[in-house]
Amino acid sequence: MEKDCIFCKIVNGEIPTDFLYENDSLVVFKDINPQAPVHLLIVPKKHIRSINDLTEEDRKIVSEMIITGRDMAEKESVSKSGYKLIFHVEKGGGQLVFHLHMHLIG
Ligand SMILES: [Zn+2]
Repeated sequence: MEKDCIFCKIVNGEIPTDFLYENDSLVVFKDINPQAPVHLLIVPKKHIRSINDLTEEDRKIVSEMIITGRDMAEKESVSKSGYKLIFHVEKGGGQLVFHLHMHLIG
């Protein structure tokens, strides 16, 4: 939990958000500025700044994010037509919120 982190506030309920999926380690919700008909964010509950800040113990959460992205694509009926799973890394990579997240765009 990081003070003033918008995604930490979403994860802990300070900012009410509809979760399309939630488990012990991550949540999924809609991007507020969608770039496609399906645009979801897969967000770990643990505050990690970016891909650059991952440690050995985060291997499990990253694989879980990707598998969850695959499952959500199926639920949203874009798995056959196709979709993108994207990580932006730091400002030059287009990252806007500095709490690790993966975009599912389909
Ligand atoms: Zn955070």
